[in-house]
Amino acid sequence: MIVTKFNGISFLQFPNLISFPDLGHGVFTRCGGFSKEPYMSLNVSHGVGDDSDVVEQNRAVVSMCMDGNELIFARQVHDTGVVIISDNVASQPGIHTGDAMISNIGNKMLVIKVADCQSVLIYDPVKKVAANVHSGWRGSIKNVIGCTVMSMQERFDCSPSDLVAGISPSLGPCCAEFINYEREIPEKFRKYRINSDHFDFWRMSEDQLRSAGLRESNIYSSKICTKCNTTLFFSYRGEKNTGRFASVIGLKRNSWKGQKK
Ligand SMILES: [Zn+2]
Repeated sequence: MIVTKFNGISFLQFPNLISFPDLGHGVFTRCGGFSKEPYMSLNVSHGVGDDSDVVEQNRAVVSMCMDGNELIFARQVHDTGVVIISDNVASQPGIHTGDAMISNIGNKMLVIKVADCQSVLIYDPVKKVAANVHSGWRGSIKNVIGCTVMSMQERFDCSPSDLVAGISPSLGPCCAEFINYEREIPEKFRKYRINSDHFDFWRMSEDQLRSAGLRESNIYSSKICTKCNTTLFFSYRGEKNTGRFASVIGLKRNSWKGQKK
């Protein structure tokens, strides 16, 4: 991935998403925020026990790096609900619940909070639609990725072959140990089992994106394991009581050509 620096804050960008002029995106690390241990320091989650004023300060840092665009969060519940933020359905202030967000409006940066789960950023440069998917192991076996691509087709007329996707730093096959996999992971996903009880969820997501119709050449997986890199990223498996880093995608403020009220 490409390291971008803005006002002293470093974040990562996908090489296949960086060149679209209307798109803003970034995967932030845990560095550069204001939170104290164990949330040190750029924690963007209000749900982990951190001081809420400090979380808001951290979110302001992320927004500043995204050119001041508004950040949109959802209550992530490890399911397949998709939140649509479009020119037809006005975005409501307050809390959305869902594990994927899709938007075609400028100045709406969709944020997934991450500590081991994957954030999968998806962009349609033809229809100018951005999506962010939260896919932990529960989301993976429910194929929240496929559900999101389906919604992009149904609601925004996207062609999957146009879509470009990036898979964020997340729990790698080195650390995705499931000692109860016979109970937790359905039979059809056992082909992703490596060694005795480790699973390759990165490959599963790549396969789900391909099955949804994306071209292989349009998929980029960061292949950075959060648990192996806890100095840079929050890891739930590595640390339990910890923060969440931000993975962000959205159309920039001035890119929206939709109807104004
Ligand atoms: Zn690892």
